[in-house]
Amino acid sequence: MGSACGAVAPQRMWRAGRMSAELGVGFSLRAVNERLQQAVARRPQNLPAIQPRLVAVSKTKPADMVIEAYNHGQRTFGENYVQELLEKASNPNILSSCPEIKWHFIGHLQKQNVNKLMAVPNLFMLETVDSVKLADKVNSSWQKKSSPERLKVMVQINTSGEESKHGLRPSEMITVVEHIHAKCPSLEFVGLMTIGSFGHDLSQGPNPDFQVLLSLREELCKKLKVPAEQVELSMGMSGDFQHAIEVGSTNVRVGSIIFGERDYSKKPAPEKTTADLKGVTQEH
Ligand SMILES: *Cc1c(COP(=O)(O)O)cnc(C)c1O
Repeated sequence: MGSACGAVAPQRMWRAGRMSAELGVGFSLRAVNERLQQAVARRPQNLPAIQPRLVAVSKTKPADMVIEAYNHGQRTFGENYVQELLEKASNPNILSSCPEIKWHFIGHLQKQNVNKLMAVPNLFMLETVDSVKLADKVNSSWQKKSSPERLKVMVQINTSGEESKHGLRPSEMITVVEHIHAKCPSLEFVGLMTIGSFGHDLSQGPNPDFQVLLSLREELCKKLKVPAEQVELSMGMSGDFQHAIEVGSTNVRVGSIIFGERDYSKKPAPEKTTADLKGVTQEH
């Protein structure tokens, strides 16, 4: 059971919620991809012409929904808790039905969880490196796996300066990126990531968090003498991914408008922060 390849058996169609969920994921995924392309078309010519990657954020959602999205062509998925990611990525149905799946880790990573994260099958990218020490730990842990590929990493920046948010202060960015380049041979630095403050009113102008990330990239590219095309920007979620793409995002992390609202009521909440209340939980 759980295979999403075969035809839906008639009796399953009538199971409450089941059918709508299955139709829903494919339908909403298509709608998100259409909106993504529209945003790409509106993007100014001076921004790098990179096709943005859609990371489908499946946190709190069952493996079946991941498989459903995969069967509709989605390949990249994101999770923000190490344990949940490990369980989902190791799920036998996902392993057998989704051979090309790529997992992004997008939550706060504590050093004691690094080895566990490195054990995740099909881990493709860690978006949340936020210290030199964490980079070193991830580097040595990945080295031990003797994988032929370096692990792709982004450096997370706390662009809003809110205490509830993880990430480096903008002024610390260069040091950490240079450290990864110079001292972490098993890591491949690919870009900058931010969560940003919530509820920015776009009628007041562009999201300042996204602008901070853009100017940090400019600074970084000057310093390292690399073209902007080589530094990705991970920014934008369900509520603002089109705006994020229009100002230069290359990696949007979209959850609730693909999989539906998340229900946290069954899980004990570890600690309420502003982020948790908005459904963007991070490990503590
Ligand atoms: C949950 C989460 C998202 C997705 O949020 P939605 O509003 O559901 O699209 C994006 N980024 C991070 C870091 C998250 O934890």
